[in-house]
Amino acid sequence: MRKPIVAGNWKMNKTANEAETLVKDIVSAVADVSGVEVVVCPPFTALDRVSRVLEGARIRLGGQNMHWEANGAYTGEVSAQMLLTCGCEYVILGHSERRTFFGETNATVNKRLKASLAAGLNPIVCVGETLEERKTEVTEKVIRKQVTGAFEGLAVGDAQKVVLAYEPVWAIGTGLTATPEQAEAVHAFVRQVLGQIYSTDAAGVVRIQYGGSVKPENAVDLFSRPNIDGGLIGGAALEADSFAAIVKAAL
Ligand code: PEP
Repeated sequence: MRKPIVAGNWKMNKTANEAETLVKDIVSAVADVSGVEVVVCPPFTALDRVSRVLEGARIRLGGQNMHWEANGAYTGEVSAQMLLTCGCEYVILGHSERRTFFGETNATVNKRLKASLAAGLNPIVCVGETLEERKTEVTEKVIRKQVTGAFEGLAVGDAQKVVLAYEPVWAIGTGLTATPEQAEAVHAFVRQVLGQIYSTDAAGVVRIQYGGSVKPENAVDLFSRPNIDGGLIGGAALEADSFAAIVKAAL
């Protein structure tokens, strides 16, 4: 049995003060929820403040990115240890916005993934095709390359700790959502690729979230599919009631 996981990616939103208010509201809105792992990923500048609010709560904290080196001349980057000391247990890696705007590649995702696991963080690795790739029917080719690239050289024990997020780029922040059938088909394919790299049993353990304009209205239908183990939520995670409704949809 895979425990569903719903994570909020706040992106470049919320000052530390605003983040504190939002996370307090989220804590009370999901206080009665068990059976779903809930993660919030505020900007780096709000991690410490949010972490203090989360003391004693069941909600986990995550970063939105990290560098593979432990320290050094990497202006603008943060290390795994920096995230850990802010109270993070999770880190999002390879988000499509990092790939599109900041030159992230399958090879750099692989380096970040290995470093995150070595440091004891739980990585959430994002994969997904663009609209052009879907239209030209290369979705499976692109996803296979992203998954095999990210997992290159990873031992099975580490691979099983990874959470994958299937996020079709055309559905992120656009209001367009993959239909539950489209999403389930890619999730099943991702699991098949993992099965080919490792084994069917190992692939069966890995949680695969769906992300891309998830809202309270479409979450139940998406999360009820056999290979969809929760969601990575952008816009709807910035409001406590909608995020809580999505968390409850994963129960
Ligand atoms: C995301 O950025 O991971 C995401 C899924 O965003 P949204 O829910 O806003 O589409």
